[in-house]
Amino acid sequence: MDKNNHFNKIQKITEIIRNSKNMIVLTGAGVSTGSGIPDFRTPGKGLWEKVNPYEVTSIDAFYANPKRFYHFYRPRIEKLNEVASNPSHNAIAKLEEKGYMKWLITQNIDNLHRKAGSKKMIKIHGTLDEAICSKCHSIIPSSELLKMLDSVCGGIPYCECGGIYKPNVTLFGEMLTNLDEAITISSKADLMLIVGSSLQVSPANLLPQYCVKNGGKLIIANQMPTHLDNFAEINIRDDVCVVLPEIVKLIDRLDECEVV
Ligand code: ZN
Repeated sequence: MDKNNHFNKIQKITEIIRNSKNMIVLTGAGVSTGSGIPDFRTPGKGLWEKVNPYEVTSIDAFYANPKRFYHFYRPRIEKLNEVASNPSHNAIAKLEEKGYMKWLITQNIDNLHRKAGSKKMIKIHGTLDEAICSKCHSIIPSSELLKMLDSVCGGIPYCECGGIYKPNVTLFGEMLTNLDEAITISSKADLMLIVGSSLQVSPANLLPQYCVKNGGKLIIANQMPTHLDNFAEINIRDDVCVVLPEIVKLIDRLDECEVV
């Protein structure tokens, strides 16, 4: 890391955030790797090594064989209870608390933003801490789902209505939830801070383009290059668990100076 260059970028990002009126934050898997949650798409990760996640955890796989689906999916739900938010989640919650961030749009289903204290949030891929009935759409917490997997009907979590509970997340082959709302919010933002997303997953990767098209700025904090780097005011490639707290710390200092 070139320290001077790094600090210049932090300063510049801080300035842009403090001058924004309607900043939103878009997050992807990269904010949660610091909590020990591997990027779903990273090859060679234990359970997923021998299977194609697209085949075992798609919506078609769920309906074809819910028991097999949960064999692969259950560890992801259980893992959720063991993980805590990390400094990047906490910094994003702080940006909201301080009034700089108006909305958070997340691709993550791990609920860690909520654990960190974020409130105004659109979870475009849903959330893993809930399950939803495929028929009547009633929602139960995933703790209840896990109990059902252990005890009821040979591991198939039937709802009273006859439907089957599925994790309240967007499975492969399903439409995104809340996409229209995310598009509207992205279109109105004057700044989108993108954190830990390689912007490879469509249609979430289109959201920054709505922001730019309407005159908004982009800042991208991600370890890998993205296809929108050329559109960003600043790209910063360092660890988001370091970068985000640094930004918040500098904002704190500058805000205090202004009060004095
Ligand atoms: Zn039902």
